[in-house]
Amino acid sequence: MINDILAHFQISASQSGVAIGGHWLKGEGAALPSISPVDGKLIATVQTASRAEYDQVIDKAQTAFGEWRQWPAPKRGEIVRQIGDALRQHKKALGKLVSYEMGKSLQEGYGEVQEMIDICDFAVGQSRQLYGYTMHSERPGHRMYDQYHPLGLVGIISAFNFPVAVWSWNAMLSLVCGDVCIWKPSEKTPLTSIACQQIIAPILKANAVPGGVVCLVNGGREAGEWLSQDTRVPLVSATGSTRMGKQLAATVGARLGKAILELGGNNAIIISQHANLDMALIGCVFGAVGTAGQRCTSTRRLIIQESVYEAFTQKLVKAYQQLRIGNPLDENQHVGPLIDAAAVQQYQDSIAAIRDQGGRFLVEGGVLEGPGYESGCYVKPCIAEAGNHLPIVQHESFAPILYVMRYQTIEEAIALQNGVPQGLSSAIMTQDLREAELFLSANGSDCGIANVNIGTSGAEIGGAFGGEKETGGGRESGSDAWRAYMRRQTNTLNYSTSLPLAQGIKFDL
Ligand code: NAD
Repeated sequence: MINDILAHFQISASQSGVAIGGHWLKGEGAALPSISPVDGKLIATVQTASRAEYDQVIDKAQTAFGEWRQWPAPKRGEIVRQIGDALRQHKKALGKLVSYEMGKSLQEGYGEVQEMIDICDFAVGQSRQLYGYTMHSERPGHRMYDQYHPLGLVGIISAFNFPVAVWSWNAMLSLVCGDVCIWKPSEKTPLTSIACQQIIAPILKANAVPGGVVCLVNGGREAGEWLSQDTRVPLVSATGSTRMGKQLAATVGARLGKAILELGGNNAIIISQHANLDMALIGCVFGAVGTAGQRCTSTRRLIIQESVYEAFTQKLVKAYQQLRIGNPLDENQHVGPLIDAAAVQQYQDSIAAIRDQGGRFLVEGGVLEGPGYESGCYVKPCIAEAGNHLPIVQHESFAPILYVMRYQTIEEAIALQNGVPQGLSSAIMTQDLREAELFLSANGSDCGIANVNIGTSGAEIGGAFGGEKETGGGRESGSDAWRAYMRRQTNTLNYSTSLPLAQGIKFDL
């Protein structure tokens, strides 16, 4: 299967990971092996960028920007429309590669490519809606308005868990906004980035899009640092851990660049006594074990009203006993592997910390061994009763570990939900209107995403995506997220025959 997919995307066993449009550079940096967590096998080796190649890419991107920004936005949208069509054609192959290289289920792999298609559709429409306001001037014979211009080079640094969708959220909006983009993918999933570049290269060529408009720079953390330090890159959009975000924000901030930060979450669902518990169960289990707990929006905490605590935790335990863990390409499995051995170690360290800090397991975890688990990356989703204040609960463990805790009043539940450093996604399961509205009010959830009767994961493209506090404050994808990719200009135009000053100031010569 995998050889067919590599052939489909013309990926060789030792493949360059550095591209300017459809032109592949040699890749003179370190060799990066891509190993599948599904079976532990080497898929291919990727040649990363040297610093000199990075500079070459940036040079080309700068030249390309000078031309690309002059293309009318709807014409740029037309390129994105064609990219969306190409993604539709390659959906199965790319979805499978995502699943095999990253380890998420095949359904989720396809879903990730669907998200790419959806953002293309969204961006095409946006290309005709890059609106500014028109204001009434206080001066007679004057017109005042604001408009949005292309910003320049956009660096996109992505995480392993959404190896392709996050790039497309940023890239497709950047493209219609007239920016050019340089993608630094996760070093854990380089092949999917190469496949994306291969998918779009023929479209760039057929439409004579300037070469440096869509660039790819594979590499490790260092390549991400090149982007964050580079004054030629006015905006860096970075997705990953809070640790990475703090470093990157300091570097980009020191040069007064702009950053969009999409960092870690610690997402909770409140289960009210007024919830439909059967419905809540699906949202909680999928949220906690989907993508083996490796979504930024994965459900990490359940805050359960004490009168339904026993009944609901019993349902949960029963559901966990039915989970099938195994090869994510097999559609009968619910849970695939963690990304690599380091992630498995972190999972085990978290389990040890839960015990040390006084947590009590309702469903035990553990690393799976034996046939089908040879990669060593398959772990059991587990559930622990743990207080919200425990240091391990305050921390994002990027694994299928779910904490359960009780509450009495809705105000207490909201305080628990908000009582962590992160602020990405949150949900309440309730059929009580007053509770639902309180949760969504200014006194409610402090997260960027707050849902009612839906779990914490699985956002739609049309909404702005991102979170508060240590999640970084950035917004991507829908709503008016596009504005962050443009520079705003206020224009005042005087069509009268005199020059009145603002605020009525007199200055006669
Ligand atoms: P990571 O922080 O290890 O790496 C993310 C990317 O940042 C990689 O490309 C890496 O090479 C790069 N990087 C690392 N340090 C850097 C630095 N100092 N300067 C510049 N670049 C640097 O994260 P990961 O393990 O790949 O992904 C998991 C994390 O990502 C989780 O915390 C998850 O919650 C978060 N995430 C957040 C969102 C969101 O939208 N909020 C989405 C997906 C993942």
